[in-house]
Amino acid sequence: MDEVTLDSYGKINLSLDVLYKRDDGYHEINTIMQQIDLKDTIILKDREKGIKIESNEKGVPLGPSNLVYKAWEQIRNKTGIDRGVHITIEKNIPLASGLAGGSANAATTLKGLNTLWNLNLSQEELMELGVNIGADVPFCILGGTAHAQGIGEKLTPLNSFSNKLVLLANIDVPISTAQVYENINLNSIDNRIDIDKLIQYIQEGDLSSLAKNMANVMEKVVVPKYPIIQKIKKIMIQYGALGSIMSGSGPTVFGLFDNKAKLYRCKEELEKHIEKVYICKTI
Ligand code: ATP
Repeated sequence: MDEVTLDSYGKINLSLDVLYKRDDGYHEINTIMQQIDLKDTIILKDREKGIKIESNEKGVPLGPSNLVYKAWEQIRNKTGIDRGVHITIEKNIPLASGLAGGSANAATTLKGLNTLWNLNLSQEELMELGVNIGADVPFCILGGTAHAQGIGEKLTPLNSFSNKLVLLANIDVPISTAQVYENINLNSIDNRIDIDKLIQYIQEGDLSSLAKNMANVMEKVVVPKYPIIQKIKKIMIQYGALGSIMSGSGPTVFGLFDNKAKLYRCKEELEKHIEKVYICKTI
């Protein structure tokens, strides 16, 4: 095989709590990660030496800071394989949006190089390489729905929560996850999110109770800076979302729906305020 083409799916956080700052500087989190069918496409072509990265989206870095570059390095270090690759990233997932587009691209590249070069690395080995690249990468390899703890790498798969209607609304400002963590005041979070209860709703397939009780503590940092996020959440609920919160460190807001007609009406309304509104489904 000298070429593989793979889908690279984004994620939302069905809730996100930040517990405390650890001695190593990372934050301990408690979250539910959900893969969605909004996706980039990654094409990997074998070549003799070196890496070349191309993308249709001009904001994507083309050098060593791209997470797919790090994926290639991880695979080379782990297996000793001495081959190059030409990577094409067709971007649809908005950049720095809380949807883990870059992490998903790294996860897809790890899986794709494993196939391209017949390396026979297990999913577990790929996930171990993934965490060296970023906290969300192991989940992007695992996919589906999962409870994530630690820095996001301690994963417990949950029952399938696929085919639920999701509306995504992205205000077009990139937000750095690192900066949100820097500005979060953990003492100001008085109510911890009852993640175990939310997991129970997922296991029972109770979309409505899950949606009504979702929360994201990072909104405390991001909403005061971008009040439009609160406005989008309000519109989502007004137009029939069962619940609506920000995903990850933002700024993307999502709403969960159980009615297609309401979802389309809500999309139309949101498009009066912002450009990037996407309909997708959970995987
Ligand atoms: P997360 O939810 O994991 O924090 P995000 O969706 O907020 O991720 P990304 O789009 O993954 O953010 O990437 C944030 C930054 O990482 C981008 O602004 C870009 O400079 C850099 N980056 C590195 N590799 C990639 C990639 N393959 N695709 C997109 N951005 C990348």
